[in-house]
Amino acid sequence: MEDLDKKKVEELTKLLNRYNYEYYVLNQSSVSDQEFDRLMEELQRIEERRPDLRSKLSPTSRVGGMVATGFNKVEHKTMMISLGDVFNKEELAHFDEACRKGLKIDEIPYMGEVKIDGLAMSLIYENGDLIMAATRGDGTVGEDVTANVLTIPTVPTHIKDKRHIEVRGEVYMSKKTLAKLNEQRAEKGEPLLANARNAAAGSIRQLDSRIAASRHLDAYWYYFQNAEECGFKNHSDSLDYLTELGFVTNPERKRIIGLKGIYEYMEEYTNKRASLDYDIDGLVFKVDPLYMHDILGYTMKTPKWAIAYKFPPEEAITRLKNIVLTVGRTGRVTPNAILEPVRVAGSLIGRATLNNQDFISNLDIRIGDYVALHKAGDVIPEVARVIKERRDPSSIPYIFPDKCPYCGTTLIKSESDIQHRCPNEHCPSRKINKLIWFASDGGMDIDGLGEKLVEDFFNEGLVKDIPDFYTLKDHKEEIMLMDGMGEKSCNSLFSAIEKSKSNSLEMLIAGLGINLVGKKTARVLARHYLTMENLMNSSKEELASLDDIGEKTATIIYEYFSDIRNISMITTLKELGLNFNCLTAIGSDAKDNFFKGKRFVLTGTLQTSGRKEMTERIESLGGKSSSSVSKMTDFVIVGSEPGSKLTKAQELGVRIIQEDELLELLKENEGE
Ligand code: NAD
Repeated sequence: MEDLDKKKVEELTKLLNRYNYEYYVLNQSSVSDQEFDRLMEELQRIEERRPDLRSKLSPTSRVGGMVATGFNKVEHKTMMISLGDVFNKEELAHFDEACRKGLKIDEIPYMGEVKIDGLAMSLIYENGDLIMAATRGDGTVGEDVTANVLTIPTVPTHIKDKRHIEVRGEVYMSKKTLAKLNEQRAEKGEPLLANARNAAAGSIRQLDSRIAASRHLDAYWYYFQNAEECGFKNHSDSLDYLTELGFVTNPERKRIIGLKGIYEYMEEYTNKRASLDYDIDGLVFKVDPLYMHDILGYTMKTPKWAIAYKFPPEEAITRLKNIVLTVGRTGRVTPNAILEPVRVAGSLIGRATLNNQDFISNLDIRIGDYVALHKAGDVIPEVARVIKERRDPSSIPYIFPDKCPYCGTTLIKSESDIQHRCPNEHCPSRKINKLIWFASDGGMDIDGLGEKLVEDFFNEGLVKDIPDFYTLKDHKEEIMLMDGMGEKSCNSLFSAIEKSKSNSLEMLIAGLGINLVGKKTARVLARHYLTMENLMNSSKEELASLDDIGEKTATIIYEYFSDIRNISMITTLKELGLNFNCLTAIGSDAKDNFFKGKRFVLTGTLQTSGRKEMTERIESLGGKSSSSVSKMTDFVIVGSEPGSKLTKAQELGVRIIQEDELLELLKENEGE
């Protein structure tokens, strides 16, 4: 039988060796650092599980770098090792826990530092003179690049301390320098430097130091290698001393205490990152007292007293295992990518939408491909591109299925519609999604009735259609046997369902899940027709005459209420006691008051009541609420932890009101 692990190890080793060579010798990268780290992690995991496959020369047992030809080789007296990587708060907590256990103390003094994305460098001083600058190379043997390092103006050539001193740090190129050099290169038609890290590394490895000089490199010195031997007790004190000797040390470093200090530093610098004039790819936390370094010691290639926290990637590469279709409540068919789980911007992603057939064919996405997942801001991750170089040559283009995978009905796709649809009203996938929608905050907003539970009720045959939610209480004993459903959760679920009976008419209309009828249209309908019966009996023309309702939506609504099955379902809801009347005062009928006709946007968390309730109060006074801030907005109401809307409001000069001010105004105007 084929040993799949062995095959994978060989594949990963080949790739990692190639990427290492490109990165360290050619100063180029054909993959992102995150992808490199991910492949390394994958190899590590297999080797842990299958130690028999670990070779001495495995990329996991190397510090990373390689020694290029062209420079004299230098053996490092003390190995220049790398740092262990972590990617989230939990892993930082593990690091802190391991240090506390190792040192048998409750709280550890650390140094928080920024992790500059450049090239590690060692400087050796004898008798106060710089005698050697060497790259890290493979950790044991580096390259003598003294001539080039001397072109960095801030590197001291002479220091007042005459002892043997080794200082380590990072040579980097500032963002400003990179931009300027690229501008000049563009003018001359030369290829642009891809990023600051590769540019710095490439510059230091120029055989002609005049070229290195023209690249205007900088350096920060972050480690006094033989500090303890020179009488220092703390890493922080040794850095202060380096500053005194004339080395440029990084001003963002801070003495911090315990995990709390680590988290605070992490938060502060995650925000500050963009404002720094150099690239940082993470943060470094080091135990401050030097005697503790000796106690904690080292692993094969990293110290146990320091850790690098790497910022979450905004792009990650992973394998697309499969494409599966989901069929939503309206019959809309969405293809989804099933991925080998990968971390993108902090969260583990195993699934991403592929939108529609055109999206798949435009990017030529195939099952088995490696794809880049992209996540910008708060948006959900999506497949940005295919890594064609890694495509299996035997792969075939994806063919969009012509039948619904849930009910076998032939899918339809009209010329004007980008989406495939399943036309079968009774398709189980459509049904489940309709039920999920009814309970969700887009519909009746029933507390505790989430997606998973609705699916379970459907699969158990307890809920086949909307009215069945309201008879669930008759199946209490059965429900209590379901996973995670005790007496207490049953009771609170039943009372939330019961409470939803008195929800507003617009919530009920929205909850029915009629195609093209979202919250906004439901509100227009409720306010115009005032009762469900009026709406059900409306003509198509009357529907089409309403604000914001076009011909197409009018037809869909009309057809929905002409379907006997829908009429019977809605009649059952009436019998079950659901509210069919529009109770809220209609904004347009409101008397003249402060709120009438003004546009409001809410941001942040309100302390006194929910957003929905507050919006309803504003709207019943004739105010209009919207979700985004524009020049048209009259007021932005700010709760705690407001988001970017507040910044936008400030930029546009929109008036900002605090929650208590709003409450005052509401009270005054509601009383009128
Ligand atoms: P690393 O970048 O994960 O971390 C260690 C390095 O951080 C140190 O050697 C030092 O140079 C630097 N550093 C910056 N600020 C520091 C500070 N304040 N204190 C201590 N150190 C600081 O490890 P590495 O071994 O230098 O490089 C390996 C990394 O390089 C990989 O994890 C990967 O992200 C990247 N890489 C990418 C490719 C690619 O093709 N994209 C190939 C090889 C390596």
